[in-house]
Amino acid sequence: MARTPLLAGNWKMNLNHIEATGLVEQLAWTLKDVKYEREFSEAALIVPFTNIRSVQTVIEGDRLPLRYGAQDVSAHDAGAFTGEISAGMLAKLKCSYVVVGHSERREYHDESNELINAKAKKVIEAGMTPIICVGEVLEIRKAGDQVSHVLAQTKGVLAGIPSEQVAKLVIAYEPVWAIGTGEVATPADAQEVCGAIRSYVREVFGDEAADGVRIQYGGSVTAANVVDIMAQPDVDGALVGGASLKAEEFAKIVMFYRAVR
Ligand code: PEP
Repeated sequence: MARTPLLAGNWKMNLNHIEATGLVEQLAWTLKDVKYEREFSEAALIVPFTNIRSVQTVIEGDRLPLRYGAQDVSAHDAGAFTGEISAGMLAKLKCSYVVVGHSERREYHDESNELINAKAKKVIEAGMTPIICVGEVLEIRKAGDQVSHVLAQTKGVLAGIPSEQVAKLVIAYEPVWAIGTGEVATPADAQEVCGAIRSYVREVFGDEAADGVRIQYGGSVTAANVVDIMAQPDVDGALVGGASLKAEEFAKIVMFYRAVR
């Protein structure tokens, strides 16, 4: 089954809503040919909550070939949860994607696989697609335990999600030691873990889920390394941090396929 690669830019806590509008406009200019090539890749901007409405306005107004989404979501539907944002609120803003379980949320906000699983279910219920992050820290990689560690995370974050939903979601394998460090996993490192995730999904959720689920690699992806990473059979896209804040760089990442076509 052909899976459309998803190149998603995680802006993290960068850019106010005015700066966000500027970056989307720059991207639109740089990506102006992509709307004719959408079958080769899909691009999404994962922006701070305060930018969503502005980004939506530019994308819808100019009919840009971009999707957008949020970096986190509440595990609750509504009520006395000061500071939280519900999946329903994000769906109303027509977000396509919501990242859950980013390693920075796991590290700085103590998010567990159980909480991430609850958030992913809320995203699915609201009709959006979760991008569920997994990945090992350096000590685990040094011990050679990356596959078993990531599969344990995968088991936890996917628990109780029906197979037909698993087929539609996105899993981002992001080795923590490669995020924001300039240290990129080799294409073989990325394939080892992404391949193991797909085998796990096949074993537990069946062929349709395994063939449909998109598995991204994330960690210091740039225009210079994206082509080799995307050449791996089980890598269906990239979650891109720093490089997604530069319009030209991100546009090259989105159009990685031009190097091989
Ligand atoms: C990320 O934020 O998920 C990420 C992979 O960041 P960077 O590309 O900067 O390593």
